[in-house]
Amino acid sequence: MVKSMVKQIQPLIGGPSRHNFFLNEEHYKLVLEGSQDGIWDWDIVQGVSYWNDRFYELIGCARSEFLPTTDNFLNLIHPDDRERFLHHLTAHLKYNKKYEIELRIRHASGKYLYIYTRGKSLRDKEGNVLRMAGTATDITERKQIELELEQARATAELANKKKSQFLANVSHELRTPLNAVIGYSEMLENGMAGELTEKQQKYIHNVAVSSRHLLDMVNELLDLSKIEAGKVQLHVEKIHIQTLLDEYLMTFEKLMKDKQVTVSYTIDPDVDYIEADPIRMRQIFLNLVTNGIKFNRPDGTLHIRIFKAADQDAMVCEIEDTGIGISEDKIPELFSEFYQVDNSYARQYEGTGLGLAVTKRLVELHGGTIWVKSRLGEGSTFIFTLPLLHSVPCSD
Ligand code: ADP
Repeated sequence: MVKSMVKQIQPLIGGPSRHNFFLNEEHYKLVLEGSQDGIWDWDIVQGVSYWNDRFYELIGCARSEFLPTTDNFLNLIHPDDRERFLHHLTAHLKYNKKYEIELRIRHASGKYLYIYTRGKSLRDKEGNVLRMAGTATDITERKQIELELEQARATAELANKKKSQFLANVSHELRTPLNAVIGYSEMLENGMAGELTEKQQKYIHNVAVSSRHLLDMVNELLDLSKIEAGKVQLHVEKIHIQTLLDEYLMTFEKLMKDKQVTVSYTIDPDVDYIEADPIRMRQIFLNLVTNGIKFNRPDGTLHIRIFKAADQDAMVCEIEDTGIGISEDKIPELFSEFYQVDNSYARQYEGTGLGLAVTKRLVELHGGTIWVKSRLGEGSTFIFTLPLLHSVPCSD
């Protein structure tokens, strides 16, 4: 391929025998012009500079109209860039630091263009600079694209924040009437407004269940949008992990009984204490353990294992179940909002599809990460880490 390309251009460039590998002045000139860069050569001892034609082109002036003295060049630089320019130049001249900088310089039209300039200096035996020379590349187009991208990113971020703020407000406003619906339907269900027929009992039960489900969803949406809007502040406390687990697991007793799932845990003594927000930790465990029981098989097990990571200062928590498992292709989407692997199955359990999305954000808010290992039909292990940066030694 390359050989055939060389063959194609060979007649245009002459045979190899005509190549001269010693660059003379003419060749240097060709290389310099070919680079399309502005070239500058500053004789510091004499105090004079040479610019090539391209450099004059960059500033839109004829050679006769502009004398490239240091002062004149400084005047061309955008006032906001001058100090940085002088700082870089001084650092190079004094300490021989690498000289390369992006600057805005004024074109004769009054517009500024971005140049990328870099150079090298020639020094005497004592290290005094005699001469400095380099190139200036017009990078205006690239810079404009970068600025536009930056602006687009900032606008998108603002829009996202506004969306999260809107969602947070809506979710908040929805909760009040929803609580009233739940409260009144529960009162009706409990016969507080008189005896109900079987049909009425069934209907009002459906109202109560659906409104509770809606409230769960609204609460999770509120959480998600608050986290995204950066409005969730962690109230970190020193927590005794076993006390916390005992307390949490008590709330699962009914679900464990209903689903006939046995829950157990082991805690490595190295991580007796963690520092985390107890309310948010409860939410993380609640979501993961509820799923582990909900998607388990009858007589299944769920085991929580907490230990210290071997290679890092982190606590690892594995929550392993013997449930339906998740196929490999579904795993990448699992932590996205409103994702349910199998809608029909999940719907049976009144899921919201938001639990894992919230859990992931809460773990990340604590500085940890979460992932899952699973085999379809065999079970899943959700694993999350929490940094132990501020971990407190085991003592009571
Ligand atoms: P949901 O409220 O539906 O449980 P989640 O975000 O907590 O929402 O979970 C999303 C989906 O991931 C669930 O609907 C289910 O399909 C799947 N999933 C979560 N945990 C497990 C698990 N332990 N075993 C099997 N599937 C799970």
